[in-house]
Amino acid sequence: MKKTLFFLLLMAAVLSSCDTINNLAGSEIANVITENVTEQITMRTNADPDAVAAAASSLASALTISNNEIIALCEEHMMEMDTTNIILPDDDPYTKRLGRVMARFKNLGSMRLNYAVYDDESTVNAFASGDGSVRVYSGLMDLMDDDELFAVIGHELGHLNNHDVRDAYRTAYLVVAARYGIASFGERANAISMGFLGDLSDELANNAYSRHQENKADEAAYRFCIANNVDPYAMYHALEKLDSVSDNQAGKKSGFANMFSSHPDTMKRIKHIKEMAEKDGHILDE
Ligand SMILES: [Zn+2]
Repeated sequence: MKKTLFFLLLMAAVLSSCDTINNLAGSEIANVITENVTEQITMRTNADPDAVAAAASSLASALTISNNEIIALCEEHMMEMDTTNIILPDDDPYTKRLGRVMARFKNLGSMRLNYAVYDDESTVNAFASGDGSVRVYSGLMDLMDDDELFAVIGHELGHLNNHDVRDAYRTAYLVVAARYGIASFGERANAISMGFLGDLSDELANNAYSRHQENKADEAAYRFCIANNVDPYAMYHALEKLDSVSDNQAGKKSGFANMFSSHPDTMKRIKHIKEMAEKDGHILDE
């Protein structure tokens, strides 16, 4: 038992300093956890590497989370986010504008979407969670016109549709669960009372989507605009605006993957969108 606790503590220490597990599937994460923990423990102790690998592997495989459990986790996380942020009321001009821009999009597949604006003019961000919650910070709405807002939300719905959101929650959960010594999803109640959901927010904010995931979400936003008679260059203009303010935003944490987290890649994303639109015969009106 003492040994198990020792492994869990070491695993947490290793994971909190491990960047390589971002953007991996669940089974790959288990392998990375096993390899890292084995390496670290054998480096720090004289333990038999094979015995350590076996113990680490059984702990890593105990740390799993099903897709339904991820949706439950998203609901818990959104309750935390909606409590720690100020939600603008239904009759607020921001909320009305968001409702008008997204009026036709009440569902994504079988998932019911629910929209809200966080009253925070200093944060330029938006995100969609795995339970269908779409949250837009008022700072983003101040910066974007209606078409650009539509494109940015289309981009976030693209992440949701591509399962990037689910994978981000899975990775963040595994990291934080290891830190709290949670071996199964049912064990989390105590950890939640100790700040588990806040740590989950931090972990989600620290994990950037890959360049590939961003490009795919940009493509989804582009198609979303075309299909709805919105300016084909709306995502292009939105990215240009995001890039122009990103220096002020670079260090800002907003409880979810920040749109600027891939800042050095923004110019490449802008180029990618432009090439796609030009290929379809849409001319940029500058
Ligand atoms: Zn994105």
